[in-house]
Amino acid sequence: MSGPDRDAARDGELEAFRRAAHVLVDGVTEYLETLPSGPVWQPLPDTLRERLLELSLPEHGAALDELVATVLHDVLPYPMGNGHPAFFGWVNPPPSPAGVVASLAAAAMNPSVVSGDHADVHLERAVVRWLAELVGYPHEPGAGLLTSGGSAATIVCLAGARNRALAAAGYDVRRDGLAGAPRLAAYVPVEAHSCVRRALELLGLGSGAMREVPLGAGRLDTDALRAAIAADRASGSLPALLVGSAGTVNTGAIDPLDELADVAAAEGLWFHVDGAYGALGVLDPAIADRYRGMERADSLVLDPHKWLGVPVDAGCALVRRADDLRDAFSLIPPYLRQDAGAPLGTFAEYGVEQTRPFRALKTWATIAARGRAGIAAQVVRANALARELAALVEREPELELAAAPETSIVAFRARPANCPPERLEALNGALPEAVQARGRAFVTGTVFDGRETLRACILHPETRSEHLATLVAEVVEAARALAADG
Ligand SMILES: *Cc1c(COP(=O)(O)O)cnc(C)c1O
Repeated sequence: MSGPDRDAARDGELEAFRRAAHVLVDGVTEYLETLPSGPVWQPLPDTLRERLLELSLPEHGAALDELVATVLHDVLPYPMGNGHPAFFGWVNPPPSPAGVVASLAAAAMNPSVVSGDHADVHLERAVVRWLAELVGYPHEPGAGLLTSGGSAATIVCLAGARNRALAAAGYDVRRDGLAGAPRLAAYVPVEAHSCVRRALELLGLGSGAMREVPLGAGRLDTDALRAAIAADRASGSLPALLVGSAGTVNTGAIDPLDELADVAAAEGLWFHVDGAYGALGVLDPAIADRYRGMERADSLVLDPHKWLGVPVDAGCALVRRADDLRDAFSLIPPYLRQDAGAPLGTFAEYGVEQTRPFRALKTWATIAARGRAGIAAQVVRANALARELAALVEREPELELAAAPETSIVAFRARPANCPPERLEALNGALPEAVQARGRAFVTGTVFDGRETLRACILHPETRSEHLATLVAEVVEAARALAADG
């Protein structure tokens, strides 16, 4: 193909792109419009599920508008459910519209956000600073990066903790691994998210390094914790890490972070705070006090794809000292790091990814579309709805509250009148799926305090009182039906 022909072909392709993209935007808008009036979730028709699973690899390409038609017909109508205001499952908000729009532009640019003088690199620096500012965490340039989520951010932070603790003890874990090094000890509350354990396993500390933090009813037994640390030291272990939760995944509880920070400071431990779900709760003036001490953490994880509603994936690792991450990850020797007018170096020097996606654009758009005040108002509203739901639960004789909500998660159990007490555990264990199958509300379960428990997490900006009432009615009815079925 000669020059002008090639140009004409490209023009034709772009015209097809424009046409298909417009159809897609209209289809996506209609999807978002009609979501709230449909079922929260429904199983796929058997034939469609099979067709998707059995898709054969196409030998020849299809036109863009055919692909868009398939997306609109076979994919969009069968979502997970988190776009619906009566979705209370796990910790999954709907996407912010600004984030959805930005995702298209980010994909069109398709940079690898590592280093260089392109907009994406600078925007990620700014967005990481914004996230730190939003939650009141001190920020030094370079001291954080976006990740695929809270789990990945936790691995990044705890690698920093491991490196610092062993370097202080005279070991080069990057060269020698853990062979010959003292066993590290990590103090982790029972309600900490499982990603902490996974990070410790992956980093070679082993889950055996985990010590329970003596936290009863949200109060820290400082003496017991310090005694446990002393016992570890006496037996030759190296106490290295103390974890606190700024919003547990089961009940949204906030650990006594200030007291934990005191112990970490006194004992020379790395203090890590998991705020993947709840860090944003600090924007609610009614509970901001409960977060005191979060700003003292050596590392803080938060998930823009949780409460903020940035389209998945977007996690964030923040650290007090940028060099704690750089020392753990950089493959560039320190004497070469200050080169080329880029004193912060590359993002690859601070984490585990080399080619990195443009997560910053959707995160920037989501924050910019609401502003700090808009985000705070949404957080306040979600927490108020959680208290309202807790009151509904308490008023309903066939339900009981498992914990008073501190943030926007409500943990509760069913006790239908027609269910014998010995069957209550099994009933509560089966209840979330029974509620989900009815299609009018979506809730998930957990084990809290050793008992099967339902937990409703409120993140959707359009969830209203009527959706709370629907949830309560659906849980009560589904529980009665389960009990009646024996
Ligand atoms: C979601 C969550 C995590 C894990 O984050 P991912 O983004 O799912 O990897 C960790 N801690 C808490 C409290 C969470 O809610």
